[in-house]
Amino acid sequence: MKRQDCVSCGTNNVMHWFEGRDFEVDLKALRKSVLGLSGWQCEACSEIELAPESAQRYSDASDELIYQSRRPLDRHPLT
Ligand SMILES: [Zn+2]
Repeated sequence: MKRQDCVSCGTNNVMHWFEGRDFEVDLKALRKSVLGLSGWQCEACSEIELAPESAQRYSDASDELIYQSRRPLDRHPLT
């Protein structure tokens, strides 16, 4: 079983590996699902550390939301 120390609360061997979990990125009224992410989660403090590839997809999704929120007119084209 894969385990590692928590980078957040410092507890030893308390983070467990997960795969295929869906996350939701929220920004104001916007939200977006990011599916099938993997990474570590701490059983003590619930801190999540995503795997590099998953972290990249998560941050791409939040960048996309930030971009959308800055350009609200794009979502309501002028007629
Ligand atoms: Zn922790």
